[in-house]
Amino acid sequence: MSVLVLLEQRGELKNCALEAATAARKIAAKAGMELNAVYIGRALEQNVAQLKGFGIAKVYAYENEKLGHYSSDGYVPIVRDLAKELGAKVVIGSASSVGKEFCASVAARLGVELVQEAVELDWDNGLVAKKPVFAGKIVSDIRIKSEPAMASLRPNVTAIEREGDGVPEVVKRDMPALDLRSVIKNVAQAAAGTVELTEAKIVCSGGRGLGDPKNFELIRELCTVLGAALGASRATVDAGWIHHSHQVGQTGKVVSPDLYIAVGISGAIQHQAGMRTSRIIVAINKDPEANIFKICDYGIVGDLFEVVPILTAEAKKVLAG
Ligand SMILES: Cc1cc2nc3c(=O)[nH]c(=O)nc-3n(C[C@H](O)[C@H](O)[C@H](O)COP(=O)(O)OP(=O)(O)OC[C@H]3O[C@@H](n4cnc5c(N)ncnc54)[C@H](O)[C@@H]3O)c2cc1C
Repeated sequence: MSVLVLLEQRGELKNCALEAATAARKIAAKAGMELNAVYIGRALEQNVAQLKGFGIAKVYAYENEKLGHYSSDGYVPIVRDLAKELGAKVVIGSASSVGKEFCASVAARLGVELVQEAVELDWDNGLVAKKPVFAGKIVSDIRIKSEPAMASLRPNVTAIEREGDGVPEVVKRDMPALDLRSVIKNVAQAAAGTVELTEAKIVCSGGRGLGDPKNFELIRELCTVLGAALGASRATVDAGWIHHSHQVGQTGKVVSPDLYIAVGISGAIQHQAGMRTSRIIVAINKDPEANIFKICDYGIVGDLFEVVPILTAEAKKVLAG
C-alpha cells in the first residue's frame, strides 16, 4: 500500500512537483502508507538532491533522452504500469497545463476517477479533495472511491515544506520499449523572460478598461518590474488585443498566485473563476461599484492610466533598493 507522486520536470524539478510531493507526504503520513515517486526524463542526479525532506522512500527513475519533455505516449504507460506494480492506493500529480493532460491520461488508462485542480487534499479513510465549483462560488469536498484514488493539485496552493533531510532511494528502471509517435526536442517560450501564467507567483492582468491593445504595454512594464506573468480578461482576447494563451477565467487559465493585480477588469464571475483563489488580490478600477472590489484585498478606485505608471515606478524603486 503506497502513495505515488508524479514528479513533473522541465530540465529541473518544477515547483508544482515539490508542492505535490508536500501534499503527498501529508496524505501518506495520515494514511500510514509509504510514499514513492516517479521521475521520467533526463538529469535525474541533479534533481534527486532537491527531494530531500519530502519523506519519499523510493524514486522510480526512468532516464531517457527522448523523454526530456512530456510525451503522452512515453510517460503514461510507464506510470500506469508502475501504479499497478506498486499497488498504489493514491496517485497525486500537478494541475499544471502538462500535468492535467498527464493525470487525465493516466486515470483513463487505469480506468479510475480523477479530481483535477484540487486546492487541498486530505485523508479520511480515503482521499478527499477540495475543489472549487460553480465558478469558484463553492468549494466541494470530493471523496474519491476508486483505487488508486487520483488527484491533481493546482499549482501555488500548497507551500513547499520539507521535514528532516532524508533523501529517497533511487530505483533506476530500464526504459520499456515505447512506440513514440513524436518526440519533443525543444520547447520555445513565447518571448524571452516571460513567466508561465499558471505557475507564476505574481500575475498582472489587463481588461477592457485599457481601451486599446497598445495600452497592454503598461501592464507589460509592470510585469517586467515585478517578474510577473501577463494575464488578460476574455473581453480583451475576444477583441483580438492579446493572444488567448493569456486569458484568465472559466474559459481560460486558472491561476493561484501569491499576488494577482487586476487592472481595468470589472470582475465578472467567469473571470473570478480563474483567479479568486489567489492569495492577495489587488484591483485597479475607476468604477467603485465594480464587482472586482467585492473579492479584492486591496482596491484602488482610480484611472488606471494614472495609477499603473505610479505603481510601476514605485515598485522599481522599492525593488532596486
Ligand atoms: C460562458 C462564458 C465564459 C466566459 N469566460 C471568461 C473567462 O474565462 N475570462 C474572462 O475574463 N471572462 C470570461 N467571460 C466574459 C465575462 O463575462 C466578462 O464579459 C469579461 O470578463 C469582461 O472583461 P473585462 O472585465 O475586461 O471588461 P468589462 O466588463 O467591460 O470591464 C472593464 C472595466 O474597466 C474599467 N475601466 C474602464 N476604463 C478604466 C480606466 N481608465 N481606469 C480604470 N478602470 C477602467 C470599467 O470600470 C470596467 O469595470 C465569459 C463569459 C461567458 C458567457
